[in-house]
Amino acid sequence: MTLAQIQSDRWAHLQFIHPDDREGNIAHWQHALDTGAPFEHEVRFKQGQTGVYRWFLVRGVPGRNEAGQIVKWVGTCTDIEEQKRIEEVLRQSQQRADALMKSNIVGIFVDEGDQITDANDTFLRMTGYTRDDLRAGRLNWLQMTPPEYLARTFEAQQELAARQSITPYEKEYLCQDGSRLPVLVCGVLLQPHPLQVITIVLDNSARKELDQRKDDFINMASHELRTPLTVVKLQTQLVRKRLEKHAQHEAATALSQVEGPVKQMERLIADLLEVSRIQAGRLEYVWERVDLDELLREVTDTTRYTSPSHTILVRGSVQASLIGDRDRLRQVFTNLLSNAIKYSPDATTVEIDLSTSEEAVTIRVSDHGQGIPREQRDKIFECFYRATDLSQRTILGLGMGLYIVAEIVKGHRGTITVDSEVGKGSTFTVTLPTRGMPERGKDATHVL
Ligand code: ADP
Repeated sequence: MTLAQIQSDRWAHLQFIHPDDREGNIAHWQHALDTGAPFEHEVRFKQGQTGVYRWFLVRGVPGRNEAGQIVKWVGTCTDIEEQKRIEEVLRQSQQRADALMKSNIVGIFVDEGDQITDANDTFLRMTGYTRDDLRAGRLNWLQMTPPEYLARTFEAQQELAARQSITPYEKEYLCQDGSRLPVLVCGVLLQPHPLQVITIVLDNSARKELDQRKDDFINMASHELRTPLTVVKLQTQLVRKRLEKHAQHEAATALSQVEGPVKQMERLIADLLEVSRIQAGRLEYVWERVDLDELLREVTDTTRYTSPSHTILVRGSVQASLIGDRDRLRQVFTNLLSNAIKYSPDATTVEIDLSTSEEAVTIRVSDHGQGIPREQRDKIFECFYRATDLSQRTILGLGMGLYIVAEIVKGHRGTITVDSEVGKGSTFTVTLPTRGMPERGKDATHVL
């Protein structure tokens, strides 16, 4: 605008104001002129050459003569575009946060220390508390955590301190009526001082119930299957012996064909029972002194007999005994060895390497089979997990063996790891401490 334009027309500036802001501007001005009151309002001004609008704060105060009459107006226009932009971003982010808080799917709360200072309706509904309880400071996540989840919760707090966030984990909350709610929680640090965290809570009861039903089913199925199978096994043996006695050898041989599959089913059912015991926390150990060399000899001898397709090479010796459960350790090595053979159908040898240090014995079982892709190496120790590789589909199994193996090794305070190269083979390494007795757990039925 030129000065002449402004001087000739009081409203000349209107053409530079955004059409939506014009009326407001006129009203403010008119009010100021009518009353002599200072004014202040926000409008969008157009840059004459580029046509781009920016937000301005327009302020005006009257200048008066000695008689108090208004003789002029003094005004300022301050560019507040950046401030407006920040306000808009803040408004949008507040809107998003509000939308999330109002979500009726996830429970959300904000805490300072142990105290929950804000929570959405979903969280209150989940736990049975009211907004009044919240305002009165009666919501404290530490007090809502049952004692058996305290250790896991403190672990999560350590993760928060180290990484500013908590990866989802399962726990329970004590609700207002004393009942327990299984949940999945995760959190993000909002500010460190004072400590403020936003926690997201998902109701996990449906999944937990399904898990429980699955565990109950496995438990029931393994017991229900065992009884008829035992009858089949005993009757088959009995009839076979009778047939042999009556020199009906052909029929006896035909019947003996049933024994292999029956044994296989027996093994599967035994594994199912074992899984069900682990999941119920009822895996029992009978502790005794175990000569590992002798045990491994026994395992390799039996495997050589049952799997003549492969040569088993044993290198080194342990020359140490440890306190362990002989039958369960046998289960560990039989399983690793039979897997090594099962998953290397085209190879002819599997190897066992033994070594001892002052604190531990190490047993490595290696094969020259198809190997395990990197992304599946942790999962193979999970229950019912089987590699998805097509070439393995033809190999029978239910994915329970390594889960049981890992649990037994853990029960002996040992470790199990796997190294593998796809197409070349795998090595499973078990390390068992030689020193110190396993803890006298409630499930230790006999300790030497
Ligand atoms: P299962 O053999 O009954 O499937 P496991 O728990 O013993 O169950 O093994 C889980 C999965 O790990 C197997 O399905 C297989 O994909 C993989 N696996 C285990 N041992 C080996 C091995 N020696 N070589 C390659 N893959 C293996």
